Amino acid sequence: MKDMKRSGKMRRSKRKVCAFCVEKAEAIDYKDITKLRKFVTERGKILPRRISGTCAKHQRELTTAIKRSRNIALLPFTTE
Ligand SMILES: [Zn+2]
Repeated sequence: MKDMKRSGKMRRSKRKVCAFCVEKAEAIDYKDITKLRKFVTERGKILPRRISGTCAKHQRELTTAIKRSRNIALLPFTTE
């Protein structure tokens, strides 16, 4: 029967998984703006981990990627 229903140990079943871990991404491409946009708000703020479900490791990478992406958007293209 379903006596596990209220045991309090079933809260992990719908746990969000880090999108980058799912893809087994090692590094986050800061040029992939389409992807990065999913992790920033309309105002350009980076989504906190608890909302995006990103793990600590990738959240750090993501932050760097977004900052980098902002920089190149602000600066005129000098090289490449
Ligand atoms: Zn991850």
